[in-house]
Amino acid sequence: MKTYDAKDIRNVLLVGHGGAGKTTLLEALLFASGGITRMGTVEDGNTVSDHDPDEQRRGISVSLAMAPIEWKGVKINALDAPGTADFVGDLRNAIRAADAVIIVVSAVDGVEVQTEYAWELAVDEGLPRAIFVNKLDRERADFQSTLDQLVSSFGTQVAPFELPIGKEHEFGGVADLLHEKADLYPNGPMAEESEWPDDIHAMADPAREKLVEAVAESDDALIEEYLEQGTLPEEHIVSGAKAGFAAARLAPVLVGSASKAIGIDRLLDFIVEEFPSPLDRGPITVIGKGGEAKERPSDPAGTTTAFVFKTVSDPFVGHVTMFRVLSGRIRPDSSIYNATQNTEERLGQLFTQKGKEHETIAEVPAGDIGAVAKLQASHTGDTWSTKDDPVQLQPVELPEPLLAYAISPATKGDEDKLATGLARLREEDPSFHVARNEETHELVIYGMGEAHLDVQMSRLKAKFGVDVHHTPAKIAFRETVRGKAAAQGRHVKQTGGHGQYAICSIELEPLPRGEGFVYEDKITGGAIPQQFIPSIEKGIVKTMAEGVISGNPMVDIKVTLVDGKFHTVDSSDMAFQIAGSLALKEAVEKAGVVLLEPIVQLSVVVPESFTGDIMGDLNAKRGKIQGVEQIGGGKQRINALVPQAEVARYVIDLRSMTGGRGAFTMTFSHYEEMPSHLASKVIEEYQRSREEAHKR
Ligand code: GDP
Repeated sequence: MKTYDAKDIRNVLLVGHGGAGKTTLLEALLFASGGITRMGTVEDGNTVSDHDPDEQRRGISVSLAMAPIEWKGVKINALDAPGTADFVGDLRNAIRAADAVIIVVSAVDGVEVQTEYAWELAVDEGLPRAIFVNKLDRERADFQSTLDQLVSSFGTQVAPFELPIGKEHEFGGVADLLHEKADLYPNGPMAEESEWPDDIHAMADPAREKLVEAVAESDDALIEEYLEQGTLPEEHIVSGAKAGFAAARLAPVLVGSASKAIGIDRLLDFIVEEFPSPLDRGPITVIGKGGEAKERPSDPAGTTTAFVFKTVSDPFVGHVTMFRVLSGRIRPDSSIYNATQNTEERLGQLFTQKGKEHETIAEVPAGDIGAVAKLQASHTGDTWSTKDDPVQLQPVELPEPLLAYAISPATKGDEDKLATGLARLREEDPSFHVARNEETHELVIYGMGEAHLDVQMSRLKAKFGVDVHHTPAKIAFRETVRGKAAAQGRHVKQTGGHGQYAICSIELEPLPRGEGFVYEDKITGGAIPQQFIPSIEKGIVKTMAEGVISGNPMVDIKVTLVDGKFHTVDSSDMAFQIAGSLALKEAVEKAGVVLLEPIVQLSVVVPESFTGDIMGDLNAKRGKIQGVEQIGGGKQRINALVPQAEVARYVIDLRSMTGGRGAFTMTFSHYEEMPSHLASKVIEEYQRSREEAHKR
């Protein structure tokens, strides 16, 4: 593919709720522009962008796809990002590679949770956003109600530029409100110009009013003119609409059907004519070594700076790294400096990706997007620059992944393959975490939700050949004692050969929460030699770490050594360790065990209308509400202390309670005594699993 100048490049991100039609729209854009000769469908699993086996199976996009589209001398780098909150990591990084966003909305389903989410992301990044109302050919498609929902969700900046001609299966064209002309699509994806339909006034008049209002509001001079005249002259509407969109103050609404390729050529024209090129975006701010802000203009002659917005493992070509050049140019077979990882990397051939196909390119200048295979060190989110001027983009902010699964390889001996696979997936996706829990001895993966973790596990299988089993990650409980008790530990074996002899008497008592362990020696008159006193402590500490009845460590106890007996020949360090352990176990039994559970500090942010439901649910989860704060934007923050065991799957619970409109953070607070009926369950489960392990 030829090299394009920045002025002839458009980097566009397609976002929206899953199922709105992003994948199909990308396919239609490629088809209408002649980039492919026939349109694949999501149902047949043969679209350009959905090529992951997971995506074909699920029928939804689960990872970022990209394709270059050439139209009227311009290259449109279209990125198709997955729409669900589970894949926020991809979306947050991809949006940084784009200069504008197309929010795809289904005319059947209207504004959905991820539509709002995508809108907010684009607003956060200050990117111009256009809305494509799709599926107008479908039964129950309703443009008017979709437009009303858009206006009520996003305000008057939503400006209809187009209207559908014909309803549902009769949808056949687009009425252009800006220029009052009509395009019909009787034969394929190219518009045929037609008369402005007579019967469209009922819809067009109020829509045009909305448009004029949106244009007026996007510019101070225009609003004055509008308030004085009650309307705007034609040429001010057109120029104001374009300027408002470029300044991200007005969101044009375009219409069509991706699967019937209606309105697609018009969308291509709109992208080419109205979407910002990388030059319009202005210089991008990066952070130098000493923390100082620097500017990188989109200039191919500038200092080389690029952003890695995605890395993917591909079983056929290996590791693929996708990058956006902010300044300077990247050439094949050259070296780049990865400022985030502080390493130099050698690049091979550069290419552009059209789904899974690669087309080589001679260079990637400022403003363009490219890909390269087999890099070792570069991860999603890294910045490339030069060694003498290492700069980085501000890191992308991602929510903490809070759903945890414990995993293990299904086949013994696959541990190494699993470790390699997990390391790769981690590099590809900053919203995926992996940790070994030293206490529960589990390998734990953390993700944004069930779909995220399911996809990661099927990637482990498909790309790294490791099948894994998963269970909910264990909660780290603690044991302690309820009352005081005294006990004797006796380890005496004196039949034949070298004997063993150790006896110790201890007193056990509980300590306040968080005090840990105190050991006191109150032996008088040298009942046992000094050297064995630490041996007893060692035995006790070891037993505490393993736990006495639930496999969880024991904490917050004081042990006083009061007496003991020894034998000059048969006593040893080991014998006294065992005696100490036996003494503790007996004392614990007498004093009564209590299980402590971790309590987390939970902070939930939701639209006000959900506050009541959230509090009710937290009460049912044994939570203690600490307070509710108003935080603006019609949202409230609810703070509560809740047992961790109750909110291990809160990601899923909150999503189903609020339809995805809530967010939360969770941090460990302290340990608290667990209700005895729940403690008994934990203990029973532990005993059962030990018995099973014994049988094996
Ligand atoms: P994505 O999840 O946003 O990528 O959505 P897809 O492109 O996978 O589309 C979801 C479903 O809607 C698929 O069954 C598509 O065939 C269908 N679809 C997409 N666009 C249209 C359209 O314009 N008209 C109709 N009738 N169906 C569509």
